[in-house]
Amino acid sequence: MSPKYSFIIPIYNEEETILEMYRRMSAVMDRMDGAVELILINDGSRDRSIHLLRDLHDQDSRVCYLSLARNFGHQIAVTAGLNFARGQVVVILDADLQDPPELIPDMVEKWKQGYQVVYAQRTQRRQEGWFKRFTAYSFYRLLKQLADVDIPTDTGDFCLLDRQVVEVLNAMPERNRYIRGLRSWIGFRQTAIRFERDPRFAGEVKYTFRKSLALAINGLVSFSTVPLRISTYVGLLAAIASILMALLVLYWRIFVPNSPLTGFTMVLMAIFFLGAVQLVSIGILGEYIGRIYEEVKGRPLYTLAEVGGFIRQQTKV
Ligand code: UDP
Ligand code: MG
Repeated sequence: MSPKYSFIIPIYNEEETILEMYRRMSAVMDRMDGAVELILINDGSRDRSIHLLRDLHDQDSRVCYLSLARNFGHQIAVTAGLNFARGQVVVILDADLQDPPELIPDMVEKWKQGYQVVYAQRTQRRQEGWFKRFTAYSFYRLLKQLADVDIPTDTGDFCLLDRQVVEVLNAMPERNRYIRGLRSWIGFRQTAIRFERDPRFAGEVKYTFRKSLALAINGLVSFSTVPLRISTYVGLLAAIASILMALLVLYWRIFVPNSPLTGFTMVLMAIFFLGAVQLVSIGILGEYIGRIYEEVKGRPLYTLAEVGGFIRQQTKV
């Protein structure tokens, strides 16, 4: 019998949070009106996380786990969970209890009202540094300006998805997965539920600055071609500026006896400026071409080292 509710939680070095997370999740799961499964995805943790997952699975038949063969990143770990989830309703949460499980019944309530996507929107981030809050705040607003789809601001991956939506997501072959973007892109009836984001229960943030930056660039590049157009615009501006400069230089050369064209200052400035513009443009192009290359290679999204608790084990990844 397949469960009605699936809960997906990616785990990367979360030995300090897993037991508390399980305690709070099982309190919520006990109150659900149907069979549940808790899918924990070990994203190549280096600590004792995988042992804890095995133990939980032994104790509680509702707990299933997947273990990726290395660290593939949060978005891919969630994708693996979505591939294996069997419930009619799937909820994605973080392991560190920043996404309070107690909100799930409210989300399910919205689902019962007919919404197929219920995403949680942060009204406040408690106890996160000003740098993180500032960069996140700016990024989500920039993304909203640039993206082709309307990606709601201040939403993370904490959401409820209907089976129909999960099927659509699973059918999407793309490798550079920015789940909160894909979730907006697919459409269906969506609604938000507001919440205050709690501080991390224990342990350190697993999203290093580098990972967050990579995720942000991925979000922008996957959902907008505006950066490509920026180089075109800058190029056009530079072309206009160069015509004006050429006229000015000719004027100076012909009509001004002691022209200010002495020294290399101007030449050097022009070279550096145009060099920088060109390098940035090539970089932007590279971001897109690199992604084309990733897609074309067609490698599987992840490799699985271990699976626990799925009776009908899927081989397709
Ligand atoms: N995570 C993961 N793989 C990674 C990084 C993070 O599966 O490479 C998981 C992590 O265990 C947690 C969630 O993604 O469940 C969110 O990570 P974190 O709390 O560190 O980031 P935040 O979203 O709070 O900045
Ligand atoms: Mg967190």
